[in-house]
Amino acid sequence: KNIMARGLPKVKPINGVKHIVLVASGKGGVGKSTTSVNLAVSLKVLQPEKNVGLLDADVFGPSIPLMMNLKETPLLTKDNLMKPLINYNIKCISMGFLVAEDAPVIWRGLMVMQALEKLLRQVFWDSIDYLIVDTPPGTGDTHLSLIQNIPISGVVLVTTSQTAALNVVKRGTKMFQQLKVPIIGIVENMSSIKCPVCASNITLFGDDTSKMAKEFQIPVLDRIPLDQSITNSSDKGVPIVIAEPSSVEAEAYKNVGKKI
Ligand code: ADP
Repeated sequence: KNIMARGLPKVKPINGVKHIVLVASGKGGVGKSTTSVNLAVSLKVLQPEKNVGLLDADVFGPSIPLMMNLKETPLLTKDNLMKPLINYNIKCISMGFLVAEDAPVIWRGLMVMQALEKLLRQVFWDSIDYLIVDTPPGTGDTHLSLIQNIPISGVVLVTTSQTAALNVVKRGTKMFQQLKVPIIGIVENMSSIKCPVCASNITLFGDDTSKMAKEFQIPVLDRIPLDQSITNSSDKGVPIVIAEPSSVEAEAYKNVGKKI
């Protein structure tokens, strides 16, 4: 409450970056990183002339190296700035590029903030139109730190339509609204599955996302089905929007991209 009462300190733009879009979720495992990756790729596919970046701000559980198939360590410029790694025409930076894949990261909050500051300020982004930021699950230190330090154009919330996930998203939504960070909308993930026998869509968790969206007056950007092709392509480091561009799933992600 005190932090909110204090209001926002002066934010400082990231050199070369026009728009910063945060991707946030309540719970972990609801598909936030998958959405971040496919949203970044969708924006590039929809607007090839624009430069898109992806910043993995999940210091403890970075997913971008796997999902974007990037494993090298970034090189440094003469000014000691990290050069983002590039795949699918997306410039990426992640804590995962700096620590070994299986190394435990045992850090206190202050060290996390220092790492985050590095990922934000010590990167040679050059020129980026949209920087998609994959944030850790929930709304904690990292989110507050991002909101207080950089200008955020908008937030995309990712959730499943389950009470446990939605409850946390609601608290996050209140935080963003109180701190006057624009919310672009909600992506409801794992909404339905296709019956392998009759091909009809089976809704998995009900429609509480719509109720929540109405309550907070924010739009539902789209609903992504639960499909093994998403996991399989992610695990291979090829986002579904690239792997199966005309699939229902890819179309849904592109539809979200159109609303950014
Ligand atoms: P989070 O970032 O919220 O922790 P992830 O994006 O890492 O979640 O997704 C968790 C797991 O669920 C991953 O294995 C991912 O491939 C899978 N997944 C995410 N969305 C879908 C979906 N719509 N259909 C199938 N699998 C999905």
